[in-house]
Amino acid sequence: MRKSFTVTAQDTSGNARTGRIRTPHGDIETPAFAPVASQGTVKALLHDQVEKLGAQVILVNAYHLFLRPGLETIAACGGIHDFISWTRPILSDSGGFQIYSLTPLVKVTQEGVRFSSHLDGTKIFLRPEDVVDIQRSLGTDIAMVLDYFLPFPSAKARMKEAVKTTTFWARRSKERFLEKPTRQQLWGISQGSVFWDLRRQSIEELLAIGFDGYALGGLGIGEPKGELMETLEKADSLVPRDKPRYLMGMGYIEDILEAIERGIDLFDCVLPTRNARNGTIFSSRGKIVIKNQKYARDERPIDENCSCYTCRHFSRAYLRHLYEREEISSAVLNTIHNLHFYLDNFRKIRQSIALNSYREFKRQLLNQIKEREP
Ligand SMILES: [Zn+2]
Repeated sequence: MRKSFTVTAQDTSGNARTGRIRTPHGDIETPAFAPVASQGTVKALLHDQVEKLGAQVILVNAYHLFLRPGLETIAACGGIHDFISWTRPILSDSGGFQIYSLTPLVKVTQEGVRFSSHLDGTKIFLRPEDVVDIQRSLGTDIAMVLDYFLPFPSAKARMKEAVKTTTFWARRSKERFLEKPTRQQLWGISQGSVFWDLRRQSIEELLAIGFDGYALGGLGIGEPKGELMETLEKADSLVPRDKPRYLMGMGYIEDILEAIERGIDLFDCVLPTRNARNGTIFSSRGKIVIKNQKYARDERPIDENCSCYTCRHFSRAYLRHLYEREEISSAVLNTIHNLHFYLDNFRKIRQSIALNSYREFKRQLLNQIKEREP
């Protein structure tokens, strides 16, 4: 059997590494960024554009797709790849985070989670086995187990219970997953916030069950940066080197750079796409809020160092005008740029690790971003 993950280069100045995740729909070179396509589409872009920007994998949300259009529809259309007509790898989030953050009346028991649909209030009960079945039915390349997510800050006693439930569910998910042979991968999600004894327990228990990859959940939601980075460092030494690590939902490039140095391989976040639609654009010289009056007659592109379609063709003045007029093309052009900024930096990150110069690359990019443009 081919290994589902191989480390291809190791940077010696820290723990950054490049690797390759093998999936039925192709390889993912890591460190990788998965644009979010919760409903089966990266908002404002066509798949063709997303592919050309260099996305190797997109993230869909099992919870959203389970509610609408429903599994029967997707199965009748040949599974998620055929239904949305995306040929590259797809990762599905279990929807745990959405259940706890979007839905009212959530009740967690050892058996599963009961909640009301955020759409029409319908009562739904999901066991971890159901969440495996849902993702099996979607036919994604990488499936995530159902975890028990708590907001930050949460009392340690509650977090302890959440870790216990998360492990119990992870074990049941794995058992369900093993019932039928599949080329799909199943990844575990650890909890425990920045309480290291709980996080360690959570990771160790997942390791004992055995997953294709290990995600760190419930981070990047307000905990102090220092404690977060310390948690990543310690987690790095706990997870075997030959297993991929995924930091869920963390999106600021500054944090991503630090996390990669601490051995993280995979990221996803709505930040580049959502912010683009809100007119906040990332660049190699910091953030640009395009609605600002000072860009009204600014003939420069968003980022003089950027080679994306938006920057090659359009001025800040024009992009500001489109945003102000609420034109659809505003969301499209801003998203093209923001995703290019992320995916291009991930290309450069992989290159710098292969050249064993990651720390220098990180230092330069962080300095640039801090400089800020007038
Ligand atoms: Zn650009």
